[in-house]
Amino acid sequence: ASGSEENDVVVIGGGPGGYVAAIKAAQLGLKTTCIEKRGTLGGTCLNVGCIPSKALLHSSHMYHEAKHSFANHGVKLSSVEVDLPAMMAQKDKAVSNLTRGIEGLFKKNKVNYVKGYGKFISPSEVSVDTLEGGNTVVKGKNIIVATGSDVKSLPGITIDEKRIVSSTGALALSEIPKKLIVIGAGYIGLEMGSVWGRLGSEVTVVEFAPDIVPTMDAEIRKQFQRSLEKQKMKFMLKTKVVSVDTENGVKLTVEPSAGGDQTTLEADVVLVSAGRTPFTSGLGLDKIGVETDKAGRILVNDRFATNVAGVYAIGDVIPGPMLAHKAEEDGVACVEFIAGKHGHVDYDKVPGVVYTHPEVASVGKTEEQAKALGLGYRVGKFPFMANSRAKAIDNAEGIVKILADKETDKILGVHIMAPNAGELIHEAVLAINYEASSEDIARVCHAHPTMSEALKEAAMATYDKPIHI
Ligand code: FAD
Repeated sequence: ASGSEENDVVVIGGGPGGYVAAIKAAQLGLKTTCIEKRGTLGGTCLNVGCIPSKALLHSSHMYHEAKHSFANHGVKLSSVEVDLPAMMAQKDKAVSNLTRGIEGLFKKNKVNYVKGYGKFISPSEVSVDTLEGGNTVVKGKNIIVATGSDVKSLPGITIDEKRIVSSTGALALSEIPKKLIVIGAGYIGLEMGSVWGRLGSEVTVVEFAPDIVPTMDAEIRKQFQRSLEKQKMKFMLKTKVVSVDTENGVKLTVEPSAGGDQTTLEADVVLVSAGRTPFTSGLGLDKIGVETDKAGRILVNDRFATNVAGVYAIGDVIPGPMLAHKAEEDGVACVEFIAGKHGHVDYDKVPGVVYTHPEVASVGKTEEQAKALGLGYRVGKFPFMANSRAKAIDNAEGIVKILADKETDKILGVHIMAPNAGELIHEAVLAINYEASSEDIARVCHAHPTMSEALKEAAMATYDKPIHI
């Protein structure tokens, strides 16, 4: 159906950036085609990222709760076992339901979907090697590159997705490894480490830097690391991986980041989660002269336009937080600009969530950032130990921390560690986007008993005193 007919918008990549851009473009009345090579829509996020990881985090959490917490609540089970194939099947069902759902949304919104590998032949033409075999040329007045990112491997380490896995392999292991070593203490490593740790793996996280999740507020990070350590996750920080040997089992040679004596660690499976890299392979960007930076990210202006007229880029393939919701916002704003409307994304107010247990969620500045910027700020904190709902459900680990401007009380940053922090954060996201003060949050009536009351009390603590502590 794409044929040689010209589209208003062609999107290369059907991930959260690309599929959202395509749907929005069609909704705005633009003739739109989306090209995706994977065979399913939803990109990294739905197929091998956000969704399967959250499915396994939930299933493994239920197992862990049944084994370790149900009895405290008077629920007795005679035995609790893991059925790994059933757990994986549940995850696969969630993924396929959602990816098929996007195909349905494409049909509903009349987005033309071409399955195949796209590459530029000119700034307004994409040649597609289709999955069925054969080739078609898709033309567009505007072309949006939304090709996302791929796993970053480490020098000297070959990922086989069996014993040395990326996050993709870690989402589909056929057995629970006795010993799992995670290279990289970012959110993906900690989430996947949590999944397998709950199912019984001995998990060691090796990290080059002195801290886990370096972007996190340091005070929250300290508590978070302690919590993960209580869950028996081991950390080797300031540690560098020198080599990996897969002759007999997997042996990992490490040394202090600053240099020093080497040690050898043994594992059944090693997860390499040392970051992600923009994916533009085979796209023909150089052919049409699109500029990229040293890291391979496509450079765009504040309207998502590249240096080549009519060519735009969004999501993980451009600079900014590599998150699905950021890619979606980019997609909507980019298409709004193309349609002659006004789009808007503020990267300083994109929330970040680590979906471990407890979860850690944040928006805005950390205390370290506020200091570095020389901002005058006040801090309000409230622990969930003093929150009635958290106590009622015996899940009171965590804290809310708010930073507000010393003069104006305007909220600068909010950091939450709590079982459902990823949901709780959105009140703060809304507040910070509307430039609210901490007093604005404190004076809003919050339902009792809820975890959200901790946010209200932390807000009170920022400019006055909280009630319950
Ligand atoms: P992608 O999702 O990578 O999609 C790009 C698509 O383009 C791919 O499907 C690819 O096949 C296709 N493509 C590439 N080149 C071509 C071509 N030449 N022709 C045709 N098609 C092409 N983010 C969150 O916000 N929350 C989370 O909880 C979260 N969890 C994650 C867990 C894991 C394990 C991983 C790996 C990532 C996670 N992320 C999470 C990050 C999130 O997946 C990405 O930020 C998001 O998918 C980026 O969207 P995108 O559309 O830019 O790119």
